[in-house]
Amino acid sequence: MDNKINFMSRILAEHGNLNRVEFGDALWNSVLRPSISHCCGAWLTSSKENEDLLSSIQFRAAKIIMKTKVNMSKAALLIELGWEPINDFLNRQRASYFSYINNLPNKRLCKIVFDEMHAFSAHAWDYLPALKTVFESVGLDYLYHVNDFNKEMFNAFMGQFSSTKLRKEIMSKSSLREYITFYRHKGKQPYLEDMRDFEGSRLKLLCRTNSLCLNNLLNKMSLKNSNKCSLCDCNVVEDLCHFLLLCPALERVRRPLLNDISFNTVELDFVDLPNYIKIKLLIGDCGFYINEIEGMYLDGIGRNLLKKLYHERNIILAQSNVL
Ligand SMILES: [Zn+2]
Repeated sequence: MDNKINFMSRILAEHGNLNRVEFGDALWNSVLRPSISHCCGAWLTSSKENEDLLSSIQFRAAKIIMKTKVNMSKAALLIELGWEPINDFLNRQRASYFSYINNLPNKRLCKIVFDEMHAFSAHAWDYLPALKTVFESVGLDYLYHVNDFNKEMFNAFMGQFSSTKLRKEIMSKSSLREYITFYRHKGKQPYLEDMRDFEGSRLKLLCRTNSLCLNNLLNKMSLKNSNKCSLCDCNVVEDLCHFLLLCPALERVRRPLLNDISFNTVELDFVDLPNYIKIKLLIGDCGFYINEIEGMYLDGIGRNLLKKLYHERNIILAQSNVL
């Protein structure tokens, strides 16, 4: 599997940034995931360790697409990309294949073998209780027995099951308290669809998932001695709010962009809004709660601002290292 991940990494490196997220999606869905799930209807993941391994492969692939090595929340990254957790995907395939075999005409050889195993090895054959658990996990136990397996209904329940699980995981982390209000709907988050602005989208994803390498995070990861901002003399923690809205060292870049914000359809003065609302509008996609026009407008400004601030931050840090 390492070979396949390395292959994905090489292909994406050659591909560059244009349309990177969609191209990465295609590589995952059409190359990597099928190579993992090949014949999964007939094999089980068998242990928690194996499930974790598959899950970590998916996580690595997602991080390669987004060009990040930060150990961010797996659940948040999957939600941003609109990816189904790999083990849930495998279970969906298994349930579908199980029902297909179960519902075959009795004369078919594989059905005869299946029924024999079913009848004589029910306790010895791990496959059956494991499949039963899959059906039970989404509250559709009865589909295990019936002959009219409804694939659409099962997939809908499984989708609900996956998103509830991811949401619970996010709610359990205090570092993602804000994020819970950020993501908008099922599937890939809309800002990742902009094929020409990978860098802006990447920075936005890192900010949203509390994974941007500011001193606050680097300090928590034990990569920096101090969590204070290195750009200014304010002696305050360099967190997202300081970086995005307050740091005086970045004001030259920030001010023209923020002063220029004027809503298209509502009477609101952006500059007068509280900082937590500004963050929600600039990186939390909450402009879409006003309407689509304001949502798209603020998403564009937010990504542009992030790119300029991050670039300026790198320049100041590089200069201070030279001195
Ligand atoms: Zn500062």
